[in-house]
Amino acid sequence: MKKPNGHEIIQLFEKFSPKSLAMEGDKIGLQIGRLNQKVKRVMIALDVLENVIDEAIEKDVQLIIAHHPPIFRPLKNIITDTVQGRMIEKLIKHDIAVYAAHTNLDVAKGGVNDLLADALGLKEVEVLVPTFETGLKKLVVFVPETHADELRRVLGDVGAGYIGNYSHCSFSTSGTGRFMPGENTNPYIGSAGKIEAVDEVRIETIVPDKLLKKVISAMIKAHPYEEVAYDVYPLENKGEVLGLGRVGKIDEMTLGEFAEKVKTALDVNHVRVVGDLNTKVTKVAVLGGDGNKYWQHAKFKGADVYITGDIYYHTAHDAMMEGLNMIDPGHNVEKIMKKGLTNILLKLCDEAGYEVEIFPSEINTDPFQFK
Ligand SMILES: [Zn+2]
Repeated sequence: MKKPNGHEIIQLFEKFSPKSLAMEGDKIGLQIGRLNQKVKRVMIALDVLENVIDEAIEKDVQLIIAHHPPIFRPLKNIITDTVQGRMIEKLIKHDIAVYAAHTNLDVAKGGVNDLLADALGLKEVEVLVPTFETGLKKLVVFVPETHADELRRVLGDVGAGYIGNYSHCSFSTSGTGRFMPGENTNPYIGSAGKIEAVDEVRIETIVPDKLLKKVISAMIKAHPYEEVAYDVYPLENKGEVLGLGRVGKIDEMTLGEFAEKVKTALDVNHVRVVGDLNTKVTKVAVLGGDGNKYWQHAKFKGADVYITGDIYYHTAHDAMMEGLNMIDPGHNVEKIMKKGLTNILLKLCDEAGYEVEIFPSEINTDPFQFK
């Protein structure tokens, strides 16, 4: 087992939730402290409040990964007898780094919105507000017939050739490859200075941009030739759609029954409901955090009910008049990411052979209570 530093842990984390998925202008990444130190304990938090920092100090944490960035507006000063100044002072004095993963964690596959959709038991889940489409490349490689099957398998195993739910997709044509090995070569077939003709196969497949490097290096490793002939073409087709919020189906029930289900699933005592409690609902849109500006996406997608936090009075009126039911369980339901992200990161660190403790913050940071 390896004792990782902060950089190594964040590298793994960003494979799951890359910074490139964040909305423009979002304050993400390392906010306070440094990553070039050994990390024994990581704490996952929704908010970085002063009591959360005290918890981190008490539990000997070196890295906090938080959903809400503690520094959202640029600081003009750091005065240590103000709350914010004192918080930064405490973090730095105790060598605790804070890394924020905000909208990139909302968008990420398996991130906040997927965790919410899972908890609500949504089926046939789609993205509610598309914000990002992965780019694709076409990869073409020429390989001796004898090695074609093995190379196709390797390409598929590292993630090339995904179309929808089908993996290992490729197309092959046979032909003749010709080459003349030069001096100082060590050819797999043929000899220096003599033109050689070999029965080869042209294998073509598609690769998401983010996997291209990995796929090419696996391909070169698995290919028998010293110099591998391959082409990479840019494609106009777009790959997977990622974005904010999710929409999916549930077994039919009334809005009132569903509101009860939301309370249990998202672990809250109260929800605010807009709409007739007796209407039937089957299609549900959910967006973690403040989703006021996306209610029309929910309507457009044909959702019967839209679940989001911080719903304004006038947004509720607008949606009500358009016949869209709404449930507001509060912004704090994003607390689901604490356990969710702990599990994901534990698995990644385990696979990487990292010796590190990862746990969710136990502090309840919901500022609201109901009397
Ligand atoms: Zn939020």
